[in-house]
Amino acid sequence: MLTAVVGVNWGDEGKGRMVDLLSEDYEVICRYQGGNNAGHTIVNERGKFILNLLPSGVLRSGTVNIMGNGMVIDIEHLCGEIEALKQKGVKVSIDNLKISNKAFICMPYHKTQDILEEERLGDKQYGSTRRGIAPVYGDKYLKKGLRMGDLLYFESLKQKVADILSWKNIALKGYKSTEIILDETLKWLHTFGSQLIPFITDTEKYLSAAVHANKNILFEAQLGALRDIDYGIYPYTTSSQTLAAYAPIGAGIPGVKLEHVIGVMKAYSSCVGGGPFVVEMFGEEAAVLREAGAEYGAATGRPRRVGGFDVPASRYGVQVQGTDEIALTKLDVLSYLDKIPVCVAYKVDGAQIDYFPTGDKLLRAEPVFEYLDGFKMDISSCRKEEDLPNAAAEYIKFIEKAVCCPIKYVSVGAGREDYLIRSR
Ligand code: GDP
Ligand code: MG
Repeated sequence: MLTAVVGVNWGDEGKGRMVDLLSEDYEVICRYQGGNNAGHTIVNERGKFILNLLPSGVLRSGTVNIMGNGMVIDIEHLCGEIEALKQKGVKVSIDNLKISNKAFICMPYHKTQDILEEERLGDKQYGSTRRGIAPVYGDKYLKKGLRMGDLLYFESLKQKVADILSWKNIALKGYKSTEIILDETLKWLHTFGSQLIPFITDTEKYLSAAVHANKNILFEAQLGALRDIDYGIYPYTTSSQTLAAYAPIGAGIPGVKLEHVIGVMKAYSSCVGGGPFVVEMFGEEAAVLREAGAEYGAATGRPRRVGGFDVPASRYGVQVQGTDEIALTKLDVLSYLDKIPVCVAYKVDGAQIDYFPTGDKLLRAEPVFEYLDGFKMDISSCRKEEDLPNAAAEYIKFIEKAVCCPIKYVSVGAGREDYLIRSR
């Protein structure tokens, strides 16, 4: 079985939580895009973990975890993440972690460039996590990147780095930043690269063999459909492809077709960073929802913007992800509401539209809300569909119909077992 677990919204839907749950049935878990701008929070019997780079399967013994060629890897950050897991008693070894030799290295100068550019932009900044993601993907496409496999040939890497720095320093001069020193850069690469060398391999070969052996493979996305570089809210996107269609390419088995796409969708909306967010709540209303859902970025600690469920955006997310099933998360968070706001359409220039617009049209969109009955009770211990209060069941049915995709899983808490499966 080849399954992708992807985000339907702006990210932070609870993908890590769902991968942690579903990984029970999979032997191989692959991250296929993004870098340590991700924050996947997982709560299980081993404790609470926040993973930025490692696939969430590392917390399941018996799985093999792949960091695919579509990823960008800050090697210092990865070493820290592996060490932190080891200290909590989680085994990370060459038996359960393999890193693609084609994944790109996110360098310290990428972080520097990210910060300098956000500061130059001032109040027009994108809201970047400042972890170098846009610059490293930019360099990939400019063909000025360094790949994990380069770490295996350190002597020739030295010349590559020297050539890139002579170019990169021209760009940094424009920001009046200090020059990047070759020796320091090489030292950084050596210090952290040498710790990771055992994990670097031809992951394509491994995955190809896994497919032939009929192993179950799960692809774990970072961020959501609305942050995809092509199909998201450009330029308030991330710099990679967050869609399921990219999963086989970014993981290392471009020739296979996915059999199953599970879209993780939040029962309300949250968004980190800049850009249009039509359903945004403000003031007290936002503060209460933010607290109820603990909406603070896992990677950055930044308060997330929050709002009601957004049908036009979520239906679009479902469509571009090609989901065949949905995992609805954080339904428990809405239990305090008397009436639950659902944005059913947008109004643009006086006309009502039910699709998700792009560009200037999206900037001018206003939400059209309907209010559904609140369920006003703690549902976090519900484990069967029948346990849910009627209003919660009605809410699920309403949004399921609105986004045109069956909701199979309903998550009612952060813990691994806090969920129920709907029968259809
Ligand atoms: P990801 O980036 O999609 O993996 O999501 P994050 O981990 O960044 O954000 C989701 C947050 O919600 C995490 O803190 C999870 O522990 C938490 N969470 C996930 N599912 C549920 C749920 O059903 N209910 C509640 N209350 N919290 C949840
Ligand atoms: Mg997250």
